[in-house]
Amino acid sequence: MKIYLIDHGCKKCGSCEMACPAQAIYMLEDTAVIDQELCRHCGICYDSCPTEAISVHEDNNQKQEQEKP
Ligand code: SF4
Ligand code: SF4
Repeated sequence: MKIYLIDHGCKKCGSCEMACPAQAIYMLEDTAVIDQELCRHCGICYDSCPTEAISVHEDNNQKQEQEKP
């Protein structure tokens, strides 16, 4: 599973918020934030960001749990 995070490059343009099918993105004073509880890990926000402020990470904990017998 991939984890999507928004970093300091966010300009609060709203593209990711509009694009997210899960309404998992909301705005704080300085940046957009992804609610990881709501996120479906689809990657649409990643593709929609014009400033490349969204990064993608492997969720290694989840992976290790899945690999257990
Ligand atoms: S990965 Fe998909 S569900 Fe998660 S915040 Fe981005 S657009 Fe929304
Ligand atoms: S699309 Fe990128 S710059 Fe725009 S609000 Fe989302 S994270 Fe910020």
